Amino acid sequence: ARLANQIAAGEVVERPASVVKELVENSLDAGATQIQIDIDRGGHKLIRIRDNGSGVYKDELTLALSRHATSKLKTLDDLENICSLGFRGEALASISSVSRLTLSSKPADQSDAWQAFAEGRDMAVTVKPTAHPNGTTIEVVDLFFNTPARRKFLRTEKTEFNHIDELLKRIALSRFDVAITLKHNGKIVRQYRPVMKKEEQVKRIAQVAGKEFLSQALFLESGDDGLSIFGWILPPGSSVEPQYTYVNGRMMRDKLILHAIRQAFEESCPGIDVPAFVLYLTINPRQVDVNVHPAKHEVRFHQARLVHDFILQAVKQAAQPNQC
Ligand code: ADP
Ligand code: MG
Repeated sequence: ARLANQIAAGEVVERPASVVKELVENSLDAGATQIQIDIDRGGHKLIRIRDNGSGVYKDELTLALSRHATSKLKTLDDLENICSLGFRGEALASISSVSRLTLSSKPADQSDAWQAFAEGRDMAVTVKPTAHPNGTTIEVVDLFFNTPARRKFLRTEKTEFNHIDELLKRIALSRFDVAITLKHNGKIVRQYRPVMKKEEQVKRIAQVAGKEFLSQALFLESGDDGLSIFGWILPPGSSVEPQYTYVNGRMMRDKLILHAIRQAFEESCPGIDVPAFVLYLTINPRQVDVNVHPAKHEVRFHQARLVHDFILQAVKQAAQPNQC
C-alpha cells in the first residue's frame, strides 16, 4: 500500500508547496474561515495546517488517510458538476506515504478530539485521543524522509518557502472571506485578514499584487450568468507582473485563457512582453472539465473557442482606451 501511494505521490507531491496546496484546499473544502500555516525550514522539516472547518469524525479518520477515499463525490453526476477543490481522494494518502503525517480533528458535534497517523509498509492507521479545538490540524514532518531521490530535488529553504508564499498569494485571491496566516520558522510572514464586502476586495488585491498594480490596472467586468469575467488587468510594459486567473473560484494556469489575454494585446502592443492580471472567470460548471491535470491547474472547456473569444473580447474592450 505504501508503494502504490508513493507512486501516486509522484503526481501530487512535488515539493512542500504542493503539500500546502492540497492541505489548504482540503481546509477550504471543509468550510474553514481561518487557516493557519506554519512552516519550518522551507517545509523540509515541518508543514502544519490548522483550520476551523467541519473536522473529520473519529470513525472516518482511517478512511481519510486511505487512497481513493474521498467524502466529496457521492455520485457519478457529481463528477460532472464538481464544486469542491479536491475530489480524487489521494492527497492525504500520498503525502502520508512520503512523510510523517498526523491528522488531528474534532467536528463541532463530537465531544472529543482524535488523532490519526499511518505507518509501516501497509500504512495501517492508528487512532488515539488528543486535545484539539473544533477543526483540523494536519502536521507533515520530514517530507520525503523515505524517498531520498525526491528529497534530492528539494531546493534551498528560501526557494521552497517562496513557492509556498507565492501559492498562498494565489489562494488568498481566490477566497477573500478566509483569514490566512503564514508563519516561517515561528515568525508571521503574511497575514490576510478576511474581506467580506466586494468593495473591500481591493485591499487584498493590493496586499498580494501590490499598490502599484492596483493603481494602474484597468477594471474589467462583462458577461452574464452562463459565462462572465471580472478582475484587473494591466497592459504590457509595466514592471509588476502578477498573473493570476481563476475559473469558478479555482486558481488556474490555463493555456487557453493565457492565450486569449495575450492575443488581446497583440495588435496594440506588439513585441512587448505579457500583461499583468488578476482575472476571475465564472462559467456553468457543466461547461468545464476540471479533472484534466493531477495538480489541477488546467481545465478543459467544452466550448473552448467560445470561451477563448469571450475572454479576448472582454479584455480588448477594457484595454481599448488605454493602450501601451
Ligand atoms: P479529497 O480532498 O480528494 O477528498 P484528500 O486525500 O485530500 O482527498 O482528503 C481525504 C478526505 O479527508 C477528504 O475527502 C475529507 O473528507 C477529509 N479531510 C481532509 N482534510 C480535511 C480537513 N482539513 N477538514 C475536514 N476534512 C478533511
Ligand atoms: Mg484534497
